[in-house]
Amino acid sequence: MLPTDLIVDTCIIGGGAADAYAAHRLQQHNHTFAIIEPNSGLGGHTVTYRDPLSHNQPVDYGVTWLQDLPVVRDLFAHYQVPLVAQKIDYRVEMFDFTPGRPIQPRSADDATAALNRYRKLLAEYPYLGTGFEDLPDPVPDELVVPFKQYMDKHHLGGLLDVFSSWLTGLGEWPYYPTLYVMKYLGRDYLDGRTRVGWVRPASHDASELFRVMEKGLGSGVVLLNTRVVRVESRSWNAGRVVVDVATTAPRSTNTTRRRIQAKALLFTAPPLPSNLAVLGLDAHEHSLFRQFADPWFYTALIRVQGLPADAFLENHDPDHPFHRPRLPAVLAFRPTDIANIARVTVASTTRGLTDDEVRDCIRAGVDAVRRRLGGNVSDPKILAVRDHSPYTLTVSGEAVAKGFYRQLTALQGHRRTYYAGATWDTHHAPQVWMLTDQVLQRHVLPVLEGRR
Ligand SMILES: Cc1cc2nc3c(=O)[nH]c(=O)nc-3n(C[C@H](O)[C@H](O)[C@H](O)COP(=O)(O)OP(=O)(O)OC[C@H]3O[C@@H](n4cnc5c(N)ncnc54)[C@H](O)[C@@H]3O)c2cc1C
Repeated sequence: MLPTDLIVDTCIIGGGAADAYAAHRLQQHNHTFAIIEPNSGLGGHTVTYRDPLSHNQPVDYGVTWLQDLPVVRDLFAHYQVPLVAQKIDYRVEMFDFTPGRPIQPRSADDATAALNRYRKLLAEYPYLGTGFEDLPDPVPDELVVPFKQYMDKHHLGGLLDVFSSWLTGLGEWPYYPTLYVMKYLGRDYLDGRTRVGWVRPASHDASELFRVMEKGLGSGVVLLNTRVVRVESRSWNAGRVVVDVATTAPRSTNTTRRRIQAKALLFTAPPLPSNLAVLGLDAHEHSLFRQFADPWFYTALIRVQGLPADAFLENHDPDHPFHRPRLPAVLAFRPTDIANIARVTVASTTRGLTDDEVRDCIRAGVDAVRRRLGGNVSDPKILAVRDHSPYTLTVSGEAVAKGFYRQLTALQGHRRTYYAGATWDTHHAPQVWMLTDQVLQRHVLPVLEGRR
């Protein structure tokens, strides 16, 4: 054994929302763990900029608001990070960023009636609550058809404005199997939007939770700036799975190598074949994971004068039947807590963008806003850019109908490996946390505790 060897109950690959929560729950159940994260902090899509011109005030440009649910309250209370209620009551202004044409808003009555209809429809699929594991087999046809077809069938056209705004970051949602839209726009999310509201840390710094967790996760090891080199003995015949990792601190040329031995491997990074290659996938695993398609998604912060402080400015194409903008382009500008700093989202559906291309999209977006609002919008200073790709991994309706999620779920425990993360539920942190707990309770803890 090397002096740097670690022997733990669970090795967790990834250090984002699912990963940190898994470690927290394993610690509560008195199990040891090691987290392997390539970045220099936990949090994944949670990213926070500190503005030197505003006394280092934090500005989130990833995860910002959370649904006000027990899983959120309990986690923040445990780590003594106070929460405050947050209303999202900005005006939304939709227009086509290319020629500047506005979208004619639909009547609010139509939207309310359609939203009530949508809520009733959602209640017909209680198994969509957490994960994909409880989906019936076969999956009902209605959940497999493209969401645009589902909208037509159930006369949900009144929701076009609302959904095209709420789903703006999700990708080509009208063409996704209905399942994905209903997972994203689930009951808790709708309640957050319409009834219960949202919470965020009182510090308005979403990364605070992960910094505190990093210190509080005492029954395990958090290895930052660390990549997995190889995984061996991923078999129930072997005593433990073996994970070789290499840690290189930023701006350092020294690399520390460690060998981790664990009873279970929990993979929570996006399950793309490129990320999973170190696991040595078998043919069946590869045949499932290679089916995922992903849109590219970026966020940025810009310092700019002249954008409205009370409005989201959204890019939509009035000629597209679902008002999807022409991409790659800016999806939206939204105000932040600091006057003259705006948050920008940029998306592409066909290819990844270089950093320069993201910056070009942002400048083109600001030009579009200037054309629409008049000449008082300044040139932007781009303060930070973050690549959140891959975001929202989906498969075709045909694959869902053929039992993709039944087969994917059957991978839980296959070759000592378990999975969690947004791909296994949807892209909201509270849902990811509930899913992670489900995976631990149903699959990982029984093995660690000798109950299976
Ligand atoms: C811009 C943006 C804003 C969002 N805003 C909100 C919000 O306000 N409220 C909300 O509830 N949800 C929000 N979400 C959704 C939420 O962030 C996600 O649902 C959640 O972070 C997903 O957690 P995860 O653990 O699956 O992925 P992540 O949090 O992304 O974690 C994955 C981790 O895996 C690591 N990783 C990647 N590749 C490898 C590898 N090869 N080996 C090891 N580790 C690897 C990554 O560095 C990352 O730390 C937002 C998402 C985005 C992109």
